[in-house]
Amino acid sequence: MLQNNLDPEVAEHPDQLVVYGGTGKAARDWRSFDAMTRTLRTLKQDETMLVQSGRPVGVMRTHEWAPRVLIANSNLVGDWANWEEFRRLEQLGLTMYGQMTAGSWIYIGTQGILQGTYETFAAVAAKKFGGTLAGTITLTAGLGGMGGAQPLAVTMNDGVAICVDCDPRAIDRRIEHRFLDVRADSLEHALQLATEARDARRPLSIGLLGNAAELLPRMLAEGAPIDIVTDQTSAHDPLAYLPLGVDFDDMASYAAEKPADFTLRARESMARHVEAMVGFMDAGAEVFDYGNSIRGEAQLAGYERAFAFPGFVPAYIRPLFCEGRGPFRWAALSGEASDIHKTDQAILDLFPEDDSLQNASLHRWIKMAGERVHFQGLPARICWLGYGERDRAGERFNDMVASGELAAPVVIGRDHLDAGSVASPYRETEAMLDGSDAIADWPLLNAMVNVASGATWVSIHHGGGVGMGRSIHAGQVTVADGTELAGEKIRRVLTNDPGMGVIRHVDAGYDAATTVATERGVRIPMRES
Ligand code: NAD
Repeated sequence: MLQNNLDPEVAEHPDQLVVYGGTGKAARDWRSFDAMTRTLRTLKQDETMLVQSGRPVGVMRTHEWAPRVLIANSNLVGDWANWEEFRRLEQLGLTMYGQMTAGSWIYIGTQGILQGTYETFAAVAAKKFGGTLAGTITLTAGLGGMGGAQPLAVTMNDGVAICVDCDPRAIDRRIEHRFLDVRADSLEHALQLATEARDARRPLSIGLLGNAAELLPRMLAEGAPIDIVTDQTSAHDPLAYLPLGVDFDDMASYAAEKPADFTLRARESMARHVEAMVGFMDAGAEVFDYGNSIRGEAQLAGYERAFAFPGFVPAYIRPLFCEGRGPFRWAALSGEASDIHKTDQAILDLFPEDDSLQNASLHRWIKMAGERVHFQGLPARICWLGYGERDRAGERFNDMVASGELAAPVVIGRDHLDAGSVASPYRETEAMLDGSDAIADWPLLNAMVNVASGATWVSIHHGGGVGMGRSIHAGQVTVADGTELAGEKIRRVLTNDPGMGVIRHVDAGYDAATTVATERGVRIPMRES
């Protein structure tokens, strides 16, 4: 999996050991990489390799239930936890930025962002539209590296999407990669295509060239029939957001020559953009921030109602976290796509479509992913499963390895963005019910419980997703090699790991989590008398 993270199909800059997310790396330097692969080849079943920020620093005698690898990446003491100090230490060769799944060796390429975006829109559908986006129109902007997943995520939920981008190449690239269906010639054309598809309850995604800060207020003023509004322009960086009145072709030189002037104009434009989003909300649309800080930038420009609509985690994802639901993923070590197709079928069999809205959405995702997701590196799959589900899936996979149905073992892991494994007050733990947003004991307990339960490798990272000083998070990966011992470990790890999500949310006062704990038998000492 270390090598797979650096497969040229998977990693953004494999020559620099950079996997994704800016400078998220799998190993500190090539000497460390070589030392890790050499050590892993000779590691015994009762030994554990210790990795400190991408560098193997020791091998300890442990026991067969202990993880084979323990990883700590990018961690800094509170007062020193900023980019400046991190860069200084990195320059000295003492640390490495591990992002979330880069330094913990379970990145699976763009399937992850597509599925996360799909899941968010599925949660919007479940919350507001009876479990489907059929018959609705979503309006968004930004068809870049991450935002480009939006049109496909909406159509996978059977909805219609109008996606604005000021860069014609971004629209063309998404059409070429089959993430986007068609390109409209004008705003009127886009609305005509969208309403026709909506009325026929036919999924369709439409690219529309233009500046969102101009087009959204226009659409609002014209009373465009929009049901859902969000945004994934790169608003987190004002130098990457096209201001009103600036030609796209002049954007790069203007930003480089007059950054302060550009920033001011970009922020003012974002204020108009967010004002229109609030206008759609007032008119009854479902509106949310998709983690790009556009509300904060609009507020900096003086727009007072910028935070009138919520971020996506408190709005849609937290109820899933209360059930221990999160991004379960697995990779076929055989390298054979047929192994993943067989596990896809196993998931469909284990969780019948008619049992719940969530299972129906799971079926839609697995079937469409099978048809539309192109594997990068080792064939892999991601889907969201909750407490009481992940262990069943893991055990089934282990049985399939044991019986020879699968050609080789599979590894089962997840993103660090999960129900009980991250403290990140601007994202995953924004606006917790009890105000515990910045409490970082939870990811540490999560890592320890995974070590105690028999995971194959466990990691604790700092700064993933939102940067230094802003998050602490943990990951686990467990190998299903078909042995009875692996089955025992899988049962514990894949019960206790999502169980952390349930208890974290019970502790914060979420009734939904308490219900899950009561119904599915999660012990909470403070609720026992
Ligand atoms: P990107 O830079 O690859 O793409 C941004 C796109 O926005 C570009 O295609 C650009 O042409 C377009 N754009 C810029 N200004 C515009 C304007 N005024 N009108 C219309 N289009 C405009 O960025 P990305 O990787 O796609 O990420 C987008 C944003 O989403 C980032 O801010 C990122 O941090 C955020 N993000 C959030 C999450 C999450 O928390 N769910 C996940 C991924 C990305």
